[in-house]
Amino acid sequence: MGMLDPRPNGQKAELLPNGKRRKIAMMTSGGDAPGMNGAVRAVVRSAIDEGFDAYCIYEGYEGLVQGGDLIKKMSWGDVRGWLSEGGTLIGTARCKAFYERPGRLKAAKNMVINGIDSLIICGGDGSLTGADKFRFEWPGLLEELVQTKELTEEEIKPFMHLTIVGLVGSIDNDMSGTDVTIGCFSALARICEMVDYIEATASSHSRAFVIEVMGRHCGWLALMAGVATGADFVFIPEKPRADNWREEMCTIIAKHRGVGKRKTIVIMAEGANDQQGNKITPEQVKDLLADPKGLALDTRITTLGHVQRGGSACSFDRTLATLQGVEAVRAVLDAKPDTPTCFIAINENKIVRKPLMKAVRDTQEVAKAIQARDFDRAMGLRDTEFAEIYASYLITTATSLDKALHLPSQKCMRIGIIHVGAPAGGMNSATRAAVAYCQTRGHTPVGIYNGFAGFTRHHGDEPLGAVREFDWLEVDNWASKGGSEIGTNRELPNDSGMATVAELIAKYKIDAIFMVGGFEAFHSMSQLRKARKEFPQLAIPMALLPATISNNVPGTEYSLGSDTCLNELVRYCDTIKQSASASRRRVFVIETQGGRCGYVPVLAGLNVGATAVYTPEEGISIDMLAADIRHLRKAFAEDSGQSRAGRLILVGEKASSVYSAKLIADIIRTEAHGRFESRDSIPGHVQQGGTPSPMDRIRAVRLSIKCIEHLEKFAGASARTIADDALSSSVIGIRGASVTFTSMEHVESKETDWANRRPLEVFWADIEPVVDTLSGRPEIPRPEPDVKGQRAKDIKRGLVRGPV
Ligand code: ADP
Repeated sequence: MGMLDPRPNGQKAELLPNGKRRKIAMMTSGGDAPGMNGAVRAVVRSAIDEGFDAYCIYEGYEGLVQGGDLIKKMSWGDVRGWLSEGGTLIGTARCKAFYERPGRLKAAKNMVINGIDSLIICGGDGSLTGADKFRFEWPGLLEELVQTKELTEEEIKPFMHLTIVGLVGSIDNDMSGTDVTIGCFSALARICEMVDYIEATASSHSRAFVIEVMGRHCGWLALMAGVATGADFVFIPEKPRADNWREEMCTIIAKHRGVGKRKTIVIMAEGANDQQGNKITPEQVKDLLADPKGLALDTRITTLGHVQRGGSACSFDRTLATLQGVEAVRAVLDAKPDTPTCFIAINENKIVRKPLMKAVRDTQEVAKAIQARDFDRAMGLRDTEFAEIYASYLITTATSLDKALHLPSQKCMRIGIIHVGAPAGGMNSATRAAVAYCQTRGHTPVGIYNGFAGFTRHHGDEPLGAVREFDWLEVDNWASKGGSEIGTNRELPNDSGMATVAELIAKYKIDAIFMVGGFEAFHSMSQLRKARKEFPQLAIPMALLPATISNNVPGTEYSLGSDTCLNELVRYCDTIKQSASASRRRVFVIETQGGRCGYVPVLAGLNVGATAVYTPEEGISIDMLAADIRHLRKAFAEDSGQSRAGRLILVGEKASSVYSAKLIADIIRTEAHGRFESRDSIPGHVQQGGTPSPMDRIRAVRLSIKCIEHLEKFAGASARTIADDALSSSVIGIRGASVTFTSMEHVESKETDWANRRPLEVFWADIEPVVDTLSGRPEIPRPEPDVKGQRAKDIKRGLVRGPV
């Protein structure tokens, strides 16, 4: 459990033999990527917190080779406000000198004279290869420096072991061994935003657009943009199309146009090629689409270029950069002379250390495999998610084109798709992908409109009743739509009438249910499962895909829509923080959504660098407020004006029944005695988000297809078999490093805090202390729990912090 591994020893850095602190230096290198500043902030602050002196090397390896002013000691306040800045504030450069030994010799000398023996580098595979080479040569470099009398034995003695830890910063997501790199989701967000704009004009003029995105050896951006926007065709280097790609593309696009689609979008990675290794250019594709004897589409080319690198990091990149930065400092602390150089990766939802050189070798192998036209190997070297999403993409775009994938008719099911609870980003994407998958396999996807309320009250109102088979043309537009197109409702089946629900399931011959929604959906699924005894019609397979901005569904660490919500909230907080720059001294108390679950305020707090976060799990007490106000007074008194931005306190909507955001802001204002100001602010439903984030859209596609595949396993099984199999009613979840189905029976009884509508244990519990550490919040008195309350139990079980 937990995104970060627990730290059993929790030791701080030891002092050097000369009684001074050890020094860690941070560097950004190679191409810049959004999120790099968040990594620098996290490394600098957690290094200081762990007892190191923190340094930054400016201008990448160039700074290390030149030394002097380019190696700077950093203080806590130097990195204030860096989370929301794009690019890298410590600069990056390509450095020719570092490729050669004399350059690295100079770099080693600069490290020693500055007393630095640990280096954390955020860059791409090139930068990290250079780093590993540097470490390998280190003893030899020092020896040579002594021989040539550049340094003395005495000088090098404390620095015989060089520790290097890599962070992968790259917008291409081109590093093997990690699912994603710092920056790639921000770049993807930029691309999807542009494609969404282009779609509007394409649709207006009934045009085709060929969009070129970055990625010479890696098609991640192109593929994910294709999945997230529902593009008609994609070209990626790892999986070149067959030699007949021209016919294939034209057939698919003709088919899409044939059903009435007014826009055509083709997304190409820079490194697009055919199976013979010949480059495919956007011009070639354009000529083909525009060919008057063929499709004759009015076609334009858009090359997105450097906009993809720019701008402020998205919420996920901030989380990734921050947690990985913290983990990198911990890896330095744990490193022994014989520890192989590691880099910090993420697999699904788990941050892990991995050997650097294997990942670098695998990454270089991908490029070699592409060159050698061994494309299966190239795909194999990417993570499993990549291949899976590629398969999902093919299914969602070539829908019902290919009858070869149809199951035998006795295995084909009528699958009811229903949304329950509040709308969340990604619900439509999930529905679209499920419909496409069903059609590809020969199932009949049936929409159940407006939740159980709609189902039980408006069935039979044909042709626009609550139960309708899907029309692909309508659904095809849903890839990037927010909200819920089939309508969602909070009512539980027991309130709608379970007998009616069971009767209707039989009447409409629904063989399986795919449910998308939040805690109410979870509760509904539980009721349906329990009612199977009384209503045998309910002995059908059911799968729940959690979707709620609160991310409070038991059985998963991630719900669709939660990423969209965090992005909205982060944007809101950045804006409001900046608004204070004229007055300089302002604290904003912001109320976030999330019900009784602290996920939203804690993660948003991590991503905007909140001074404090108040969660429903912990509650709020007068002592806590007083301590935080003392801390604010001190912070404002010491603020020498490096950053004029305001400070933020995030309060979960249900953190306290007494201390509302407004009351907290009023108390702070009174207690500040004119030294600073305070305002409350409630973003409210803005948090649901307009257009869903690319992460929510992609995961919607991947997870919903897995759900239908799961339901399919029960096709043709007897009611008895289904009722006896606990997994016939289950919830799909991302848990740690894997995607799993867990039976409702288990999750309901073992993992659910029903009274508080949240999971009993949460994976983000270890993130809360990180928010506090990185914002410099001192140890404060925690609220006392109610004597018999859930919090008392949680404290006892070590799940949350207790009063100190
Ligand atoms: P990226 O890190 O984004 O892949 P580059 O490949 O341009 O970017 O690498 C950035 C810098 O890292 C180079 O300018 C160089 O200074 C250093 N570097 C890259 N590869 C090596 C290598 N094989 N040996 C030594 N230094 C290297």
